[in-house]
Amino acid sequence: MLSPSRISVQYLKGVGPARSRLFHNLGVSTVEDLLFLFPRRYEDRRKMTPVGELIPGEWHCFSGQVTGKGARRTFWNKKHVLEVTITDGKARIICVWFNQPYLEKCFHEGQEVVFYGRIEVFKDRLQCISPEYEVLSEEVDLLSTGRIVPVYPLTKGMTQRYLRRVISGAVENYAAGVLDVLPEDVREAQKLWGLSQSLQAIHFPGDDAARLEAERRVSFDEFFLFQISVILRRLHIRKRPGVAHQLSGEDLRGMIARLPFPLTRAQDKAVRDVLSDMRGPEPMLRLLQGDVGSGKTVVAFLGCLAAVRSGHQAAVMAPTEILAEQHYRTFQEYFGIKARGKNQEARNGEMGALDGMPSSPVSRLSSDPPPLRTALLNSSLKKKDREAALKAVSAGEVDIIFGTHALIEEAVAFKDLSFVVIDEQHKFGVKQRALLTSKGQSPDVLVMTATPIPRTLCLTLYGDLDVSLLDEKPAGRGEIKTYLFSEEQASGAYGKVAEWVKKGTQAYIVYPVIEGSEKQDLKAASVMYDELRKTVFKGLSVGLVHGRMDRGEARGTMAAFQRHEIDVLFTTTVLEVGIDVPNANVMLIEHAERFGLSQLHQLRGRIGRSEKSAVCILLGDPVTEEGRERLEAIVSAKDGFKIAEADLKIRGPGQYFGRTQHGLNELRVANPLTQMEVLEAARKEASALVKRDPLLSGHAPVREAILRRYPEYLERVFAG
Ligand code: ADP
Ligand code: MG
Repeated sequence: MLSPSRISVQYLKGVGPARSRLFHNLGVSTVEDLLFLFPRRYEDRRKMTPVGELIPGEWHCFSGQVTGKGARRTFWNKKHVLEVTITDGKARIICVWFNQPYLEKCFHEGQEVVFYGRIEVFKDRLQCISPEYEVLSEEVDLLSTGRIVPVYPLTKGMTQRYLRRVISGAVENYAAGVLDVLPEDVREAQKLWGLSQSLQAIHFPGDDAARLEAERRVSFDEFFLFQISVILRRLHIRKRPGVAHQLSGEDLRGMIARLPFPLTRAQDKAVRDVLSDMRGPEPMLRLLQGDVGSGKTVVAFLGCLAAVRSGHQAAVMAPTEILAEQHYRTFQEYFGIKARGKNQEARNGEMGALDGMPSSPVSRLSSDPPPLRTALLNSSLKKKDREAALKAVSAGEVDIIFGTHALIEEAVAFKDLSFVVIDEQHKFGVKQRALLTSKGQSPDVLVMTATPIPRTLCLTLYGDLDVSLLDEKPAGRGEIKTYLFSEEQASGAYGKVAEWVKKGTQAYIVYPVIEGSEKQDLKAASVMYDELRKTVFKGLSVGLVHGRMDRGEARGTMAAFQRHEIDVLFTTTVLEVGIDVPNANVMLIEHAERFGLSQLHQLRGRIGRSEKSAVCILLGDPVTEEGRERLEAIVSAKDGFKIAEADLKIRGPGQYFGRTQHGLNELRVANPLTQMEVLEAARKEASALVKRDPLLSGHAPVREAILRRYPEYLERVFAG
């Protein structure tokens, strides 16, 4: 039999060329794809209720004989109405459909039909509007009634009923032909069901126990393949010797002493973790977690400095240009380097070269360390300057380079990159991280995030990634008070903001959209900027920054805000990550109900960065219960980790981390948050398999499956 992975869905009964396009919309092109299109949820429609016992207002499954039908038009708007009378011997109900004249042909007197729908009472008689139905016959099994019914993701032009029928045919004829890549001994050891039995039961489970077994099997496979990829990649990274950085305690104390503030206890511990990893020859892969404002940046910078002092180069990658530039400037602030205009350092090396220094990296540091040469790679660099900067980096004339994704471009080459920082790592994909690290000889890698990753998820995503946690904020931070107001109170809120700003603080006003849209009637950043600067904020200096404006202009405005040449900054979610302006202590978020929980917390994290107290005003009129809860949660919650955890549970790992985490997107049934036992078992088996057969030469199907699913993890692994 031809493998279902090689048969187009088009050839399934009921599909054909035209409808196969609908399947493509669902990401399904082969029969195997279809078998792996799993239900989103299930509905239990096993219980059949006699017509006489149907309860109005509730959903029921019922069956009976067609005893009459009639079509008419509604009096007022001439809609087509089909009414079919159903009797089960004791009682009667009318099933009603609007505007579906073709259904008339589907029902004939005497037919036995099963229905599922919401029961109503209309003019003293029972009725059910647009129920799902199935005509009973000897040849065809019930798919949409009388059983646990799968509910699939749909695309426009496709119904559940149709999709169930097609999938049922595919399961019946092709499930047995799907290649089962799970090694037989693993399957037996874990007492897992066979694949074809599981595919059958995950689509059309006979009972809950069968559904759970099927889910366990399918989840196991997903975890197992993902874990093998993660482990192989990890082994591959570890296998190659990294740089054993040479650092003395004295140098470190010197570096820390130059900072404008003492480290918190948590920062101190994290710095020790990082530096002790750096000293060892194994490449570091460490995650630094800490709530917004906990001070992750300085930890990373001390690592960079350590790399440079040992004679190597460091790179800092951030998700936005604004943030990259901020890091570039903050670094100079922290370590007392005079910034002298755009990228001067990179171009002319005026900061001094390392030439002529004693060759031992340790002695170099002793008294007066050589000046640091830093560079910023951004899109506003002129071609000539960019080329000069790149040349300096590859010649080793720049010690630390800051930038966005631009750093992973092919043109960027280092002389000796030994330390890599990836800020807001969840904004990057596996591949982007790998590309940056591949520019050095197994450099030490520090990834940072304010979105916490629970232990199990951490294992899933990274294998044995090491974790440092910043669980306290720098001392002397003012409190952030958060208030929720309705849109009606907006003008009062603007007035308050103006009042505070006049006393010397700066303010952010944040909008979910940029330009006004009449349809949505949302107050948009640029529209409100134009309006309010002429009214409430008259006499104050007001600026506007959003993601769709010219980058140079955005940067200029941001820098002016940083220098306090601007008092009130109108902005969008470009502000979300990382921006640090300690004098800004007021934030007004409009249409707050449109933001996610973590997003609101990230935004609010932009204020409260000094010893002064801060105020965050949320303007919003949530329409849903969930929206109201979200806003109330953000008003009362202080701990960003708790917020993020709640958000992670609400949205699930795939949504929460966004599209860039490819590995998570491949998990369809498996959920690392709820199926920890399955994950643990799969991890154990995956690691045992890799130990036995590191190149998977005896497990070609596994190898092919992971290469297909996780190319970004494995590109270099099998290349040798
Ligand atoms: P995040 O963890 O959100 O990236 P940052 O590294 O941007 O936080 O730090 C937030 C602010 O706290 C910055 O203004 C930084 O200079 C300041 N900061 C960091 N560490 C300390 C400290 N130990 N004492 C005082 N201020 C600190
Ligand atoms: Mg940060």
